[in-house]
Amino acid sequence: MAYDNDNIFAKILRGEIPSDKVYEDDWAYAFKDISPQAPVHVLVIPKGPYQNMEAITRDGSDAEIGGFFRAIAKVAELSGVTDGGYRLIANNGEDGNQEVPHLHYHLLGGRNMGRMVKRFGI
Ligand code: AMP
Repeated sequence: MAYDNDNIFAKILRGEIPSDKVYEDDWAYAFKDISPQAPVHVLVIPKGPYQNMEAITRDGSDAEIGGFFRAIAKVAELSGVTDGGYRLIANNGEDGNQEVPHLHYHLLGGRNMGRMVKRFGI
């Protein structure tokens, strides 16, 4: 599916709607989630137009992919959660319940995050 240039995170990247910025470099932009699920809840997104993991690994350069992952680690450091630990979640596609079609990692921490996934059965 083609990247939707009008998705909300594309608008945030273009500065068309406000965001609470935590970090920015050539490859990534990080901002606080508008509906935090933990004391620390930051979204880290690549600057390139990638909908999901498939798109960035297919179309992104090694520099973009490496820069993006380094930015995630940098945001964890800046958020003060590297000692206590944290959780990274990337909801991807329909079964992953991805709501915004621009790749994003949720960085969650500041408390124990509990079990990863509730057991619903398979
Ligand atoms: P996902 O379900 O993984 O696609 O997550 C989308 C996330 O984006 C949710 O946690 C929302 O709270 C968050 N979100 C939606 N709009 C905004 C916004 N304008 N600024 C910050 N976070 C947002």
